[in-house]
Amino acid sequence: MQAGIVAGAGIAASPLMRGTASASTTTVGRVVTAEQAAQRVLAMATESVQLGSKGVGGLIMDNRTGRVIREGRNYRALPVNPAVATGPNQVFTWDYTAHGETALVGWYQFNRKKLGLPDPQDLTIVTSLDPCAMCTGSILTAGFNAAVVAFDPTGGMNVTADGRFKTLTPNLRNDAYDSLGFYAVDGVRKYFGPQQIPLNSTAVSAETAQRCESVFFSPRTSTSLDNVVPLKDVVDPRSLPATDPFRVALQEKWPMAFDIRLSSPTSPSKELKQYLERVNKATPGSTNAVAFIDSFGNLITAMADRPSRSIATAFMNTTQSYSQGRFELFNDPATNEGAKRHLAAPRYGSFIWLHAPTPDIAPTLKDLGAFGSTMGDPAPGGFQFYLPPLRGTFGQLLEQIAYLPPYYTQQVGIDPLPVGVFSPMPATSS
Ligand SMILES: [Zn+2]
Repeated sequence: MQAGIVAGAGIAASPLMRGTASASTTTVGRVVTAEQAAQRVLAMATESVQLGSKGVGGLIMDNRTGRVIREGRNYRALPVNPAVATGPNQVFTWDYTAHGETALVGWYQFNRKKLGLPDPQDLTIVTSLDPCAMCTGSILTAGFNAAVVAFDPTGGMNVTADGRFKTLTPNLRNDAYDSLGFYAVDGVRKYFGPQQIPLNSTAVSAETAQRCESVFFSPRTSTSLDNVVPLKDVVDPRSLPATDPFRVALQEKWPMAFDIRLSSPTSPSKELKQYLERVNKATPGSTNAVAFIDSFGNLITAMADRPSRSIATAFMNTTQSYSQGRFELFNDPATNEGAKRHLAAPRYGSFIWLHAPTPDIAPTLKDLGAFGSTMGDPAPGGFQFYLPPLRGTFGQLLEQIAYLPPYYTQQVGIDPLPVGVFSPMPATSS
């Protein structure tokens, strides 16, 4: 094993999962109507916008009793440390994948035993907005029910608002029919979805449903500092002397950083493939590993998955490792300048999978959604892989992507690129 490989690093539960993130709350009380549930998730969505993230809120409810077990919201951006802020209401991306529903599922899995929580099929996640691909993948992977208040015409899985889930492969569509319901809205629509969804004989008021939708599209009241420096002004961190304090801090976060350098982010080497194989082997029970390569071709971080412990995929662990580490370096006055100058947003780099995700399963829906949420903008070359899926084919993966809503197929344009699969890869030296 190379010195830089840290088995399972970054897979430790995040503050969100442990429940120590300040803004998430374990709640008492119960809801007895869909309107009450909708008002509570609307309140979380509103708080989310006030704190600089997208306006989505959710809760976990016990199907039998209506007891609210947990509330959550989108935690993508967090307020910046006042010591590094240059003005009021500034936020920085903490985790591109920290959506409300996925965070609730992660929290549940981490706390289930400790708190003696019911089985996921006896629980329902109520969400203010039609879940994205990642969150739908999280809900289906974990086996929860979900009840939705408002539609999302760009990235929701029910983008056509008719409950047909044409955004999913036929196999996953059946899972969605069995698990996801859409509450009735007074004077607007009837309930549709499976019968076990609690409170489905009651309706949400038109005003609350409208507010759940508009809070998602409401203008930010905060300023995002995510890309302070234009890409052309970002400087290769590897050009720093090994003793430079920022470089030292960077390598404390990511001990594997700079172990490998590619001639460009889209020219992966055989050496990187072998590295990913070692990361995969070093993590017990893992199925895949993913590397993040910055815009200069530097390996920054690489993570495996650990399906028995966490719903996070290898990609999710890798993007979380980079974005959370970048947030911390940005937020520390001692490393703020270095983070601004040397660490671009992940969409300017590339993610390289050891194996292409296995098509037609819920964890891959989650993976594709997480990639879309991380990139946000067109991402040519951002998604590469060395080896075919462990099951199924690359063609089937492309089919699954083609089903997704326009946000993923057009805005981000998810386009996995095989490298070294169909032709031998020339080895490059670092
Ligand atoms: Zn989501």
